[in-house]
This record gives sequence, C-alpha cells and structure tokens, in this order.
Amino acid sequence: MKDFENVNSVIERVLLTEEQIRDKVTEIGARISDEYKGREPLMLCILSGSFMFASDLMRAITIPVGISFIYASSYGDASVSSGEVDIRTGKGGLDVSGRDVIIVEDIVDTGRTLTAVKKYLEDKGAKSVEICTFLDKPERRVFPLDVKYMCFDIPNEFVVGYGLDYAYKYRQLPFVGVLKPEIYTK
Ligand code: IMP
Repeated sequence: MKDFENVNSVIERVLLTEEQIRDKVTEIGARISDEYKGREPLMLCILSGSFMFASDLMRAITIPVGISFIYASSYGDASVSSGEVDIRTGKGGLDVSGRDVIIVEDIVDTGRTLTAVKKYLEDKGAKSVEICTFLDKPERRVFPLDVKYMCFDIPNEFVVGYGLDYAYKYRQLPFVGVLKPEIYTK
C-alpha cells in the first residue's frame, strides 16, 4: 500500500481493502451487464463521492452504457446530515426522458439524498430508475429505499476513502477506512 501522508493518525482501521473492492465492483458490473442486456442504461453519478466507484463500475460493465453527472448533497462539511438536499445539474440540464437510469452513489445513509434524486428523475420522465450504491448503512435508514445493487453493507461508523470524504479530505485513499471519531468530534 502507498504511504499516504498522515493516514495512520486519522484512520482507525481498514474496513475494505483495494482487492475486496475490485472483486465486488467487478461482480456488480457483471450483474448489471447481464440484467440490462439489450438496453443502454444511463449511469447517473452523484457527485462528488461516487466518482471513483462510477469510474471502476463503468469499466466493469460490458454492454453499451452512458454516464451523466449531477451534484447532490445533504452534508456540507459536517459528519451529520443537514436535512436539506441540494440537486444541481450542469449547464443545459439533464435529459433522462425514456432512459433506464442507474443512480450510482457512494453511500446510502438515511436515504434522504437518493429519495430526493429518485423523485427528481421520475419527474423528469425516466423510464426506469434503479439504485447502485457502493456502501450502505442500513441501520441508519430513515427514508425507505429499494436498493437494487449494493457492494457492501457496513456498520454505523464514519468511513472515508475510495471517493468518500470527511470535510473534503481523504477521497484519494484506494481503500475504505473508519475515521477515528476524535477527528470529527473535536
Ligand atoms: P443520506 O442522504 O443520509 O443517505 O446521506 C448520503 C450521503 O451522506 C452520502 O452521499 C455521503 O456524502 C454522506 N455520508 C454518509 N455517511 C458517510 C460516511 O460514513 N462517510 C462519508 N460520507 C458519508
């Protein structure tokens, strides 16, 4: 593993290794390729946290697939949800009408973000909307959601790495680690 500056002072333990992540993403990519055969789904990558997952997942999908990006966030720079969901598209908006959309998310926590994004896509005329998340914290769910594809379900701990951040940091770690609680409680 590369020697990331300060990693041992902020990470309590590694929860998912690079290898575990690679194997699982390959498996989910194969499932999507199989289940969407004959169609051309649109991956909708929720920025910022899911960029790394979306990029690996797209390379694991063997059928034609598109990708678009939206920004959705309910978090700001804290480790608790602010309760508001901010959804933004790039200039020109987002055309999903008649498309089979697969929302690609880094982590489902309360379910607030994806409940809002799913409704937004349905209102915009998507033909189907399914959810593919890298991580899930089912214990924390407040808004019930039907998650079709999930790589790992994890305990209720704050994690970083593989795209996930704390206060805009640690996204570059190639593994998922549990953040030391003293980092976000101080
Ligand atoms: P939800 O709307 O409560 O489901 O929150 C989902 C969003 O919360 C994710 O897209 C993440 O940005 C953020 N989030 C939730 N748990 C974690 C975590 O453990 N680490 C980093 N971000 C998290």
